[in-house]
Amino acid sequence: MKMELLQSLETDHEDAFIPRPPSPMMRAKSLRHFRLDSDEDGTAWITFDMEGGAANVWNETTLHEFDLCLEAVSRDSTLKTLVIQSAKDHIFIAGADLKAVRHAPVRQLETMIGLGQKVFNRLAALPLHKIALIHGACLGGGLELALACDTRIVSDSDRTRLGLPETQIGLVPAWGGSTRLPRLLGLPAALQLIVTGKLLKPSAAKRAGLADFIVPRERFEDFVHHRIALGAPKRRLSLTGRISLLPGARHFIASQVKKAVLTKTRGLYQAPLRAVEVTMRASVAPLPKAMEIERHAIQDLALTPATGHLIDLFFRKEEADKKPWPRGVALPVHHAAVIGAGVMGAGIAQWLASRGVRVLMQDISTDALARGMERIHGLLKEGVKRRTVSRAQMRDALDRLSAEHTRVPLTHEQIIIEAATEDMALKKKIFADLAARCGPDTVLATNTSALSVTELAGTLPHPERVIGLHFFNPVHRMPLVEIITTPHTSDDVIATATAFVQKLGKTPVVVRDSPGFVVNRVLMPYLIEAVRLYESGIPAETIDEAMLEFGMPMGPLRLLDEIGLDVAAHVGRTLVAAFPDRLAASDLLDRRVSTGKLGKKSGEGFYKHGARVKRKTVKHDASELEHVQHRLALLLANEAARCAREKLTQTPEAIDLAMILGTGYPPFLGGPLAWLRELGAENAKLELQMLAASTPQPNAFEPA
Ligand code: NAD
Repeated sequence: MKMELLQSLETDHEDAFIPRPPSPMMRAKSLRHFRLDSDEDGTAWITFDMEGGAANVWNETTLHEFDLCLEAVSRDSTLKTLVIQSAKDHIFIAGADLKAVRHAPVRQLETMIGLGQKVFNRLAALPLHKIALIHGACLGGGLELALACDTRIVSDSDRTRLGLPETQIGLVPAWGGSTRLPRLLGLPAALQLIVTGKLLKPSAAKRAGLADFIVPRERFEDFVHHRIALGAPKRRLSLTGRISLLPGARHFIASQVKKAVLTKTRGLYQAPLRAVEVTMRASVAPLPKAMEIERHAIQDLALTPATGHLIDLFFRKEEADKKPWPRGVALPVHHAAVIGAGVMGAGIAQWLASRGVRVLMQDISTDALARGMERIHGLLKEGVKRRTVSRAQMRDALDRLSAEHTRVPLTHEQIIIEAATEDMALKKKIFADLAARCGPDTVLATNTSALSVTELAGTLPHPERVIGLHFFNPVHRMPLVEIITTPHTSDDVIATATAFVQKLGKTPVVVRDSPGFVVNRVLMPYLIEAVRLYESGIPAETIDEAMLEFGMPMGPLRLLDEIGLDVAAHVGRTLVAAFPDRLAASDLLDRRVSTGKLGKKSGEGFYKHGARVKRKTVKHDASELEHVQHRLALLLANEAARCAREKLTQTPEAIDLAMILGTGYPPFLGGPLAWLRELGAENAKLELQMLAASTPQPNAFEPA
């Protein structure tokens, strides 16, 4: 039987653990977010159960309370074991309260960092067997707590994830994580986890040496009693781990990791580079010095604009992933149909089936259906190979899929996603047919890249059921789905589509129907200008390099090759027709397409593609790079500002989110609008006007 330990805090008695419950008032006064119990066999249990939320997070209050618990535990000399667990369904501890980090004044931030270090060091120093009982997300400060324990028992649940993702939001682990992880795993493994911010599933955590045991959650208590009987493990770092902490090895490993980070990030992200330095030094420093190294690093990083943008992005994505559409009723979706089994149709069908939705995939061509099914098999097999999908999950996904080429009724389906060839006349025909075959509440969605959803809806008896669901290619990798609404779309349908996209694990951004929606619209002037610069004689490599240096994951001309020049030309035509005053595409893309140069899929576009093709090394002219980067970045941001002015999304921040998730716009810049804000509207206007004066298409640079 467990007893409340809290008495010791209230009464300061030596005989702390009197088996009588404290009065509710005393309890409310001292501990709101924790429970403290003890067993007769000398085990104390700290249960983290943050008041008023589904997650446990660290802020000054919770750290203080946890410290009070440790105080009580340390006063009882009869205790031999301390178990720390969470009362939440899916979260052990989600890390630090980022709201506190983002908006705290410097002093408060310093206090919080110092407090966390003090509390976790105190935990580590307690002369008991400390066990972390981990079910659900154990991230950042959650894992740092677990690292201060002797034994980490993790549940076998699919919800359980362990990791230190701080560098992904521009920070470094500074509550002992950068110090303790290398001492547990050796330097290379610790750096790998810290620099990538990767989250490990239970089996991977066990393989890495981060988790000691994997146990079903229902068996936690039994297993703990069993471990308690065996006492604290004697742990020793492996020989290779110990070697990795020797002076020469440490420096060599750190320099190699730094080099890899620089290649990947071009030095645009400070946090992973600083993390390498901090982990390398803190891994062997005496504890007070190690804490100082961690502290200085996080204090420097927390105040940079990049970290601010990365944390804001985290919140925006969280909100988009969770917040329901504010009006209407979302209907659950269990059955879906996908029309078209091509690149997108098969990609969408695979994703839906993997996320628990029953999918009927339709195509007029049996060959296309066979190829689509083959593609789905291939994607799932690749997932199994990469261990992102288990064999059982693959089998279940395939069980949920069926393929059909005849006109079967679609009355069971709550949503139908059309992903057939991009052609308005064809899509109108398909929608008329779908409207006749589906149930009275079925949502009719199109995956069109650039056609007018409003025009499509206008041809149907129930236009309120029509919506755009713009998935990006490749579906299994791209996190964004633009939800396109027309003036007819009902709130119930928007709410259903939003909840559906969230259920699929993608991030929805609701966009008012307008040519190119947000992502293609903002991208197109930038792509058109990149082609124009190329025609003016600047090498493709230089144009791409300029934007890689800006932080884009891929240059604009290589991106065109990836998209396919035919597809890009088609989207370009739609946008040029919509905005003829300021957009004028050159016919270069059409000319290339007419000679069979479609980009990567045909082996040649702006570049030659193929296993044997070597990348050309081009010497770039620094002023030319700057010229290109300046023009392209400004044009892109200017179009984003136009979309914001037209209120295409509910908030301007949603445009930044869409561009980061849909195109890989550099997250550390916060999105094109955040970039523009930092440049200053007046500066941007002047610069655009100057560019307009020196170009054959001055309208393209008209400030938004
Ligand atoms: P695709 O050419 O690979 O596939 C289209 C499929 O539609 C073909 O298998 C074809 O047989 C089938 N089809 C044609 N008429 C049909 C009908 N009446 N009924 C059922 N099936 C029919 O094209 P895709 O690249 O998959 O694009 C599909 C849609 O997705 C287009 O609207 C496109 O604009 C949009 N989209 C494409 C991308 C991309 O990068 N490919 C990205 C986002 C959106």
